[in-house]
Amino acid sequence: MSDLNMSEAVLKPQVTPQITPPVSAPTQSLNSIVRHNWNLKEVQALFAMPFSDLMFKAQTIHRENFNPNEVQVSTLLSIKTGACPEDCKYCSQSARNKTNLEKESLLAVDKVLEAAQRAKDMGSTRFCMGAAWRNPKERDMPYVLEMVKRVKAIGMETCMTLGMLSVEQAGRLNDAGLDYYNHNLDTSPEHYNQIITTRTFQDRLDTLGNVRSAGMKVCSGGIVGLGEKATDRASLLIQLANLSPQPESVPINMLVKVEGTPLANVEDLDSFDFIRCIAVARIMMPKSHVRLSAGRTAMNEQMQAMCFLAGANSIFYGCKLLTADNPETNQDMALFKKLGINTETVVDDSASTEQILNTAIVDQQHSDQFYNASA
Ligand code: SF4
Repeated sequence: MSDLNMSEAVLKPQVTPQITPPVSAPTQSLNSIVRHNWNLKEVQALFAMPFSDLMFKAQTIHRENFNPNEVQVSTLLSIKTGACPEDCKYCSQSARNKTNLEKESLLAVDKVLEAAQRAKDMGSTRFCMGAAWRNPKERDMPYVLEMVKRVKAIGMETCMTLGMLSVEQAGRLNDAGLDYYNHNLDTSPEHYNQIITTRTFQDRLDTLGNVRSAGMKVCSGGIVGLGEKATDRASLLIQLANLSPQPESVPINMLVKVEGTPLANVEDLDSFDFIRCIAVARIMMPKSHVRLSAGRTAMNEQMQAMCFLAGANSIFYGCKLLTADNPETNQDMALFKKLGINTETVVDDSASTEQILNTAIVDQQHSDQFYNASA
């Protein structure tokens, strides 16, 4: 799996008490046509645009396809933590990296269901379950299939990230009712061997193909700040955008440097380069949810707001940690309130933002099972 230095995402949909003016029906321009033939030269030209021009273009396309003041939020739970045999150089969960992460075996189905129910009670509609595996073993399948069925049965959308999938496994997950499967490409094909050697770039594309053929929605993105070049960021986005269909969900992660991993001391990526990455992803994948994913703890509110302006419209929400610092759950709510952002699905439109904040804080104090989604 690839999204795994993340933790709790508790969620209560934000409902601002004021009446939001209706967003007029967007007019689709040629820029909103989904293309699968992007080439390096034109993507480099997007990255090279003056910052304000790039932001304007990205925001224009964003408004043609989405409500600009809504953000989709997901809850992510680690169902099996650490001791992963893969050698992803950024990851605290790789058995090859000497981090202080505490390993956990596969969670019992009942525990997963409890966590899902709690997330649902707080307003979450999608529950993502992640396991630090190269791929699920046959002995694991009955458990993960049961998790999917039971989480579905309480009325939530389901997502899993379990590593590589065979055609047969993808089919069984789809039959169990899994809605989304996350499998990131991580970085460009050119930079890939610097980051992972235990599975190939083609292995990743094959898994995405198996997921798509089975009928599930695809969540796939990458990580920036891995010491890659600017051309690698363009190349990664080309790989994602040229998938047909494009992934429904595209997480863009900023590297979270973890002590004990080979990338612990890599040079920081400039904030504007990260924001440009979000904007170019929005332009190239106009109808996908672009997720501002790992790395939010290192971003101040202004930077996160710029990312939303650049077209990010999804986050992992909340904050209990397994592996990294604890961002405050209520910080997201407070930022949403400041920015006038609502979550995409509103369950309880009678609750005030203050009530939601209080509930989120209480839940944070009692929860210990979620990834740090914003670290
Ligand atoms: S080491 Fe394992 S858990 Fe970590 S990103 Fe790679 S595959 Fe996922």
